[in-house]
Amino acid sequence: MNTSKITGKSILFSAPSGAGKTTIVRHLLGKFPSLVFSISACSREPRTGEVNGKDYHFLGIEGFKKKIEEDAFLEWEEVYKDNFYGTLHEVVEKLWSEGKVVVFDVDVLGGINIKSKLGDQALSIFVQAPSIGELERRLRSRSTETEEKIQMRMARAEEELALAYKFDVILENDNLENACAKAEDIITNFLNG
Ligand code: ADP
Ligand code: 5GP
Repeated sequence: MNTSKITGKSILFSAPSGAGKTTIVRHLLGKFPSLVFSISACSREPRTGEVNGKDYHFLGIEGFKKKIEEDAFLEWEEVYKDNFYGTLHEVVEKLWSEGKVVVFDVDVLGGINIKSKLGDQALSIFVQAPSIGELERRLRSRSTETEEKIQMRMARAEEELALAYKFDVILENDNLENACAKAEDIITNFLNG
């Protein structure tokens, strides 16, 4: 198996889709210069405004499966049916070799999987919306998904919420400003630890 030779500090953010992790991660990247986002690969098409190599490496299904065969992933998941997402060894190893703290935005199983590989080098944070109803409202308010995709994401949310206890920290995202401030404190402690 291809295991990463170079490792460094990492912060993992996971949550059911719509909880607010992308919003919080963007805020933190603007606050802490040592943090760098790990750009994942995925098999889905870009949404309007998404840029290849910035938001994701958009590989398509065939390209993604080829990378699986090449053992190129630190971790990958079929997060939703026929929708693959994963972190390429080469992407994170380059950032670690530059001394960066790598920030991951991955699904809940991916977060648990990467944490088990990186141990104390990684801080795992589960972002939690105040309720399932609010989660759905946020997902709809983002206006990025079809009804079918919203149903698929909500169906998975309950299972994901049941795994929150496996994370180092559960970050409540009720009021966004409070959640960002709390996240800043948690990360400051981790970086100084
Ligand atoms: P995720 O990355 O977890 O799928 P996003 O960061 O895309 O979630 O957030 C989903 C939607 O909810 C976005 O439209 C975002 O602006 C909104 N949002 C995020 N946090 C809050 C919050 N605390 N209160 C209300 N809306 C929020
Ligand atoms: P979206 O399609 O909304 O961008 O992402 C869907 C889900 O895939 C989110 O929960 C996101 O965190 C997750 N995801 C993104 N990149 C990765 C990755 O590299 N690995 C895993 N396991 N999940 C990922």
